[in-house]
This record gives sequence, C-alpha cells and structure tokens, in this order.
Amino acid sequence: MTATLTFLGAAGTVTGSQHLLDDGSHRILLDCGLFQGLKVLRERNWAPPRANPATLDAVLLSHAHIDHSGYLPRLARAGFEGPVFCTGGTADLLRVLLPDAAHLQEEEAEWNNRHATSKHDPALPLFTTEDADRVLARVKPIAFDTTFAPTPGVEARFINSGHILGAGLIECRIGGRLVVFSGDLGRYGVPIMRDPDPVAEADVLLVESTYGDRLHTPDDHRDKLAEAVSRAADTKGWLLIPAFAVGRAQEVLYDLRELERARRVPALPVYLDSPMAIQATAIYASHPEEHDRELTDIVAEGQRPFATQRISLCRTVEASKRLNDTAGPGIIIAGSGMATGGRILHHLRRLLPERSTTVLFVGYQAAGTRGRLLRDGARTIKMLGQVVPVAARIMVSDAYSAHADRAEILRWLHGFTRPPSMTYVVHGEPSAASALRDAIAHELHWPATAAEDGQRVTV
Ligand SMILES: [Zn+2]
Repeated sequence: MTATLTFLGAAGTVTGSQHLLDDGSHRILLDCGLFQGLKVLRERNWAPPRANPATLDAVLLSHAHIDHSGYLPRLARAGFEGPVFCTGGTADLLRVLLPDAAHLQEEEAEWNNRHATSKHDPALPLFTTEDADRVLARVKPIAFDTTFAPTPGVEARFINSGHILGAGLIECRIGGRLVVFSGDLGRYGVPIMRDPDPVAEADVLLVESTYGDRLHTPDDHRDKLAEAVSRAADTKGWLLIPAFAVGRAQEVLYDLRELERARRVPALPVYLDSPMAIQATAIYASHPEEHDRELTDIVAEGQRPFATQRISLCRTVEASKRLNDTAGPGIIIAGSGMATGGRILHHLRRLLPERSTTVLFVGYQAAGTRGRLLRDGARTIKMLGQVVPVAARIMVSDAYSAHADRAEILRWLHGFTRPPSMTYVVHGEPSAASALRDAIAHELHWPATAAEDGQRVTV
C-alpha cells in the first residue's frame, strides 16, 4: 500500500490550505481553505474542486481561519457528504465564521447584480448560507490528544499548535506511514494561548512558513497600546483599533485589562463594536482547557480575562450608531482588521478628520487595503463614497502575530527526536518557503523541499 500526498493549495502561497492524502483505499483531505488576496488566487475558488468531493472519505481541519476552512461550503455544494473532523474550539468558531463568510459572498453577489458590474448575469455567490449550514451539520468535534479513526483504516490526532483557539496540528497514520501537518504554528510565551506542543516523530512532515524568512520584533506590544490609550486620554479623543474578530480582538482586550490593572493607563470606556468579536470572545472564554497558565489563574480568581473595567458590547447597529453621539475619550475595537469593510469604516469616516483621534493598527495590512494606505501616511482616504481627510494620529504595533517566526518554527522542529524522511514546506510566499527550507537543511540537516502547487509525492 503506497500512500500519496498532493498539494492542492497553500503551496507557494499562504492561502487556500488543502492537501490530499490517498493510500488507494482511503482519501483524506487535510484542511479545506479558501484562496484569498490577489484576484488570480481568488479566481481559483471558482474552479471545480481539485479533489473529487464524491471520492473523499473525510476532511481533517487544522483550525477555523477561512484560508484553512472557507472552502468547505463550496465542497458541500459540489457534493461532499462525508464528515469534517476538528477540535471543539474550531467547531465553535466555524459556526460563527462560515455563515459570516457565506453572508459576505451573498452580499457581494447582490451588490454586483444591483450595479451590473459582473460579466456573469446574474452574479452568483461562491457559496450560500445554506451551503455553510449543510457542511456545519457534518462537523464532528474531537478532543485534543485523542486518537480517532476519520474512516476505518486511518488514524488521526489533533495536537495543540498554539495558533488560535482550537488550532491543532494534525497527525495522520495512513497506508502505514505517519504524516504530520503543522497547520499554522503559534508563538512561544505569548498571552492567552499555550505554547505549541512538541511532536516527537513523523515519516513525512508538512510545515508552515508564513514567517519563514522573518523574526518578530522583540518590543513589548503593550508599550504601543499604552501610548495610544494615553494619547486618547490626553486629547479626550477616540482611540480606534481595527482588529480581526477572532484572536486579535481577544489579545487586545486582554492587554488592555493588564495595562489597566498595572495602572499604566487610565480605565477608559472600551466598546467592543463587533458581533463576531463578541461571539468569538465568548467562545475563547468557554474553552478553559486551552488557556495558558496566566489566563487559567485569572479565571480561577473569579475574574473575566477579556473584560476591561468599563467595557461595553455593541451587539446591534443601533448600539454602534449611539457611539456617534458619545463624547471621548474612549476606545472602539471593531472589524475589519484592515479597514476593508465592517463597522470600523463608519467610525473612521467620522473620526479620521479629528486631530484628537488615534488609530492603532495591530495586524498585518495587506497591499491595496485602506489599512495599508493609512499606515503608509495617506492624507486623504476614500470610504463609503467620500474622500475623508486624515488628521488623526496613525499608530502601528507590529508585535501582534499569531504565527511563529523562523526561530520559533525551528524551535518547534527541534522537538523531533528523529528526522522525518522528508519535510515539505507549505503555507508561505516562495521567498519565505525557500528561506525556511534552507534553514532546515543548514540547522537540522533534514531533507526538505518547498512544496509546489499540484505536486504529488509518495509518502
Ligand atoms: Zn491561521
């Protein structure tokens, strides 16, 4: 029995994570992610599935991020009727993220039809809310460190990868070979999440390389956050923090609470203005088994780790709009993280022209996004049909990241007690993937190669 591995996405790029394991009698998909970013990548989401959905036995999902899970509704739409295995935390987050992704697709199609901008008539969504619901009904949560059979004859296990809530690296024993897939690796010694668990062995290893050519800046990200909060207090203005709803919003809340407790900043009113971030925060709080020691201690003392002293949750549009008539100083955390959409746009439109406003970016800002333009110093910015002048102070903290950097990936690889017979570097831009491959070869002397899109290899 010879097993093969085919790289169907996230090879030479960071999105569309999808790898097929096949031993002749079983076919297992590792991850089922959406391509994101450049148009040429996004167009790939519209092609027929590269793994025939009718022949798949199961999908194993490393974590809930859309570039790892967002193709599932499309797979269901194309006829996949098998189970989707993931951890409990991932299952909970999927119930928030997949319907939201479907809703965005439906909105975009509707907008295209109204403005007749699509060459397709009518423009259709990539997938619908029904597709998302259909695949959510197939999700089977499995506890960490528990061996299970995704299909008879194959064994698998999720191991904590420390990336976001529920994130696991995947061990899969198929065709007599042990394949380990890192999923996205988290960082060491950061708040909230535990360090990635070590793995002792693999016959074949797939390792991510998002930051394979970079090291994170060592500065304390709470310094920038404290500076931004203090400025808002001094100017009696608003601090706007565009943040991803899952992971980043919780990190920022946790850090704000720590700064308040240490009396490094005054306790300003904090508005979490994102229904998705509110749900994600509740999910983070409801999985104590994944909390790091600091978080566990806070909860054991009967405290709420993500609740600042004066926090308010804006669930409804009305609650969000009421902020328009509320005087600063205060802090608004809202999506989207790159200011490409979401409630943050309305706050930016209103508050960017004010000198008293502070905007703090806490995540990667991709080329072409409003977030990138602002951090690059744009003096005007187009949004919601207006040209908005920028008088606000724009600040950036580059220290927040949910991905291990090159040194941290290597630290995790050093946990192996015997070298894999082959290591495939995935989930990185070509320069990052080849840098990590070289580091693995020089530092560990393991055979390693950057996976190529569509490449099939024997495991
Ligand atoms: Zn991820």
